[in-house]
Amino acid sequence: MTEADILNVLRQVQDPDLHKDIVSLGFVKEAKVTGETVSMIIELTTPACPVRDQMKEEIKKLVLSLPGIKTVDVKMTAQVRATASQARDKLIPQVKNIIPVASGKGGVGKSTVSVNLAIALAKTGAKVGLLDADVYGPSVPTLMGITEKPKQVNNRVIPVEKYGIKVVSMAFFVPPTEAVIWRGPMLHKMVENFLGGVEWGELDYLVVDLPPGTGDVQLSLCQMVPITGAVIVSTPQDVAWNVAQKAILMFNKLNAPILGIIENMSHFICGHCGQKEEIFGSGGARKAAEQWGIPFLGEIPLVTHIRTTSDKGKPIVHSDPGHPSANAFLKTAENMAAQISIRNIQGETKLVPVKIGPVNQPTLEIEWSDGHKSVYSSRELRLACPCAECVNEITGQRRLNPENVPQDIKSTVINTVGRYALQIVWSDGHGTGLYGFETLRKLCACSRCQ
Ligand code: ADP
Repeated sequence: MTEADILNVLRQVQDPDLHKDIVSLGFVKEAKVTGETVSMIIELTTPACPVRDQMKEEIKKLVLSLPGIKTVDVKMTAQVRATASQARDKLIPQVKNIIPVASGKGGVGKSTVSVNLAIALAKTGAKVGLLDADVYGPSVPTLMGITEKPKQVNNRVIPVEKYGIKVVSMAFFVPPTEAVIWRGPMLHKMVENFLGGVEWGELDYLVVDLPPGTGDVQLSLCQMVPITGAVIVSTPQDVAWNVAQKAILMFNKLNAPILGIIENMSHFICGHCGQKEEIFGSGGARKAAEQWGIPFLGEIPLVTHIRTTSDKGKPIVHSDPGHPSANAFLKTAENMAAQISIRNIQGETKLVPVKIGPVNQPTLEIEWSDGHKSVYSSRELRLACPCAECVNEITGQRRLNPENVPQDIKSTVINTVGRYALQIVWSDGHGTGLYGFETLRKLCACSRCQ
């Protein structure tokens, strides 16, 4: 057996997210054969790889099946890839990935999720920072039990280190009794200082806890640095009200990618009997993610233990790592890290429309990036409108009465929304529907797509 034989057999191991074999991806850094022993170094794109153990087992099994090989030693390492950009190099050169965590409105658990995700990533071995840019309600120091203030050296802020992550919060600089009533330019300056004026050092991931909604901080962040992708936190009822969609639209408008959506408080687990209760329905965010053509990263239950650990400044992922809710955070962090790797390795590979229209016709034609051409009946497409007015997002039941849609309905305006969806305004005046590219492709009636 030679190194070439080993590489040959390793070509059978596919990365399920990147859809390529680990040899082509350059993951195999060493494959040495010494007598009956093979030792290998496999370098993944994130230490938080969700299929790390599964991949290791597959590699072992395959190599052990080779004649004359009795022992296999597989060392799994990771090198997080960075978002390629010049702007990053200028303002915050050593931070590989900036991941804002956003929500349509407050109180959905965005800060709780940010903190636990950051700690979960650090636990896998990644270098992680957490920037609390929630200017109007910075809660990260409370959630992390941080009481000290950061030091300043040469006019630069040194982050406070706790639970394996580096933390900077707006709360460090504004007394708790004072309210922030800053105008846009001041918030812009603050974001700039938090990025460029902080000694973050080398980081694989900088998680940014954004203020809720769609305001100046979000705008400044997306304009100032090329974010790797935003994560949207939503509760089931938040999805129903389409509030999360507003946050998504904002990032789309800013041409900032979205890594995925997390459903927090997705179901209630009774602390006494352990029974699961779906108070606001379930699967809303998963369904919305599918409609909008963005990944669903995970669901976090509504559990008293999450709240109490946060209140004590000891987030559940740190203080009770074996707890099922801590595992839910860990799994979500892994899925997020996988999406980051996919983005950084592949760039934009999604199926997107390259030619749309013309409008004002009984049919609507879309030519896709894979060369396929879909021809839709305008009326069928109007009837399939996924907006909250036309479909009950909790039950999935259609609200739109087909009798109210004219037979000769036509599209009047078509806008591309970021890299994810089309907004179609119809001749009946309706225009709130966002047709995710994936959903649209599924709606193609041709025999190949069906
Ligand atoms: P946001 O940042 O969106 O305003 P927070 O993270 O501050 O929201 O959370 C609001 C409240 O909800 C806090 O008291 C927090 O402890 C609690 N909370 C958040 N997520 C959960 C959860 N999954 N289970 C129980 N309590 C939660």
